[in-house]
Amino acid sequence: MSGAAPAFIDFEKYSEHVPASIPAAVQQATNRFVAGRAARAAELPQWEQLRQIGSDIRLHTIENMDVYLTRLEQKVVSAGGYVHWAETAEDAQRIVLQIAKEHKVKKVVKSKSMATEEIHLNRFLELADIEAIETDLGEYIIQLAGTGPSHIIVPAVHLKKEEIAALFSEKLHMDAPTDPVELARIAREVLREKFLNAEMGISGGNFLVAETGTLVMVTNEGNGRMCTTMPDLHVAVVGIDKVIPDWESLTVFLKLLARSATGQKLSTYTQFITGPRREEGEFGPKEFHLILLDNGRSKILKDPVGRDVLKCIRCGACANVCPVYKNVGGFAYGSFISGPIGAILTPQILGTQAARELPFASTLCGACADVCPVKIPIPTILRHLRRRVAEGDEFSLPAMPAPIRTIAGLTSLALAWNWIYRIGARLLPVVNPFFRRDNWLSGMPYPLSRWTKIRPLPPFSARFRQWWNIRSAREKESSR
Ligand code: SF4
Repeated sequence: MSGAAPAFIDFEKYSEHVPASIPAAVQQATNRFVAGRAARAAELPQWEQLRQIGSDIRLHTIENMDVYLTRLEQKVVSAGGYVHWAETAEDAQRIVLQIAKEHKVKKVVKSKSMATEEIHLNRFLELADIEAIETDLGEYIIQLAGTGPSHIIVPAVHLKKEEIAALFSEKLHMDAPTDPVELARIAREVLREKFLNAEMGISGGNFLVAETGTLVMVTNEGNGRMCTTMPDLHVAVVGIDKVIPDWESLTVFLKLLARSATGQKLSTYTQFITGPRREEGEFGPKEFHLILLDNGRSKILKDPVGRDVLKCIRCGACANVCPVYKNVGGFAYGSFISGPIGAILTPQILGTQAARELPFASTLCGACADVCPVKIPIPTILRHLRRRVAEGDEFSLPAMPAPIRTIAGLTSLALAWNWIYRIGARLLPVVNPFFRRDNWLSGMPYPLSRWTKIRPLPPFSARFRQWWNIRSAREKESSR
């Protein structure tokens, strides 16, 4: 992908990790998830109704986000927690640092969080001389490798066990075996010491239940619980779009999420955190901070087409079925979030100028929309964003030159109004010889010449309706 490197898309960082060929591991893992999802969905006769209910709840929530966020804040505060509002990525970074400084934190353990990927928190804390260690196995591996995640739920999906063994050997100064169980044991041993010494735990969150101010974390490893219960300080960085109204809604999303993501009925751990621990001897941190990250989300809310992206529950199912993702892998998106969801979220968060190629990274086959548990019309949003890139918006100047835009506008007018189309169809045979004479169109000025120099205008043969009638008559004739 080309273009100037924007603030938060580090094309160089990502592109150096794009493998020459996508490892079979990506295809195998995504195929396994696709099969698992299909099997779990087939077990529930009401699966399609569930998707519709999930979609309706998410739409209702984003349309009433102010109400639910205010309720959430009140409940978190009344449970003894602190709520911080971060308008931008920089605000969120600053708030985390401020909390860390107030508590003289030097060591942090983190559980997997796309929101902290989005704000590049690890890099920021490193610059502030704070050690932040990822404790999800996949995230730990990619942190050692110095890359971002290549899949929403399986961050190191692109790496083979031999590559992970080589990485462990190099970074942990040992002779690591290629056995996955052994590799997990090595990581567990290293991380145990990190859990014991950390002064602060940082997490993301899958859902925020406004009804009780509860942070919900859905994981398959025990590291999330360790991050949020062992250190005395827990900071959760969560996008404002993660709010849901109540526990009844949560039951719908818990049914949809694991089935769509990994083909499980339920993830191994579902953790509920409502404020800090109440009494000595109870589990949990002494202090709980919730940072609500906006970072462009309220701007997205204003776009009636684009805002459906905020319904996303980050299951990754769209990437698993996407022919583009499966063939180019996650790093090719050059973004904190890859796959079809990345193609519609990143340009809206960072602006179409920063991520103008992403809406075009799709075949528009629609497989993503077919599997999305909350029915996000991904192809529709992709087309909408392509239009924004072509015509220009508040982030970018039009990518399409003015003459081409005029022609495209006239064409769309003709196709939208039948009478214009009919007049045009009658005029074409009359004006066609004039435009073909001596191929004079090839001398058109740039940028039209890019087309006309190599493509002479063909002779007009027949109007569509004429051609259709002739074809139908022939078919009738041959069927007699
Ligand atoms: S867009 Fe839909 S399928 Fe893709 S991650 Fe979000 S919820 Fe899952």
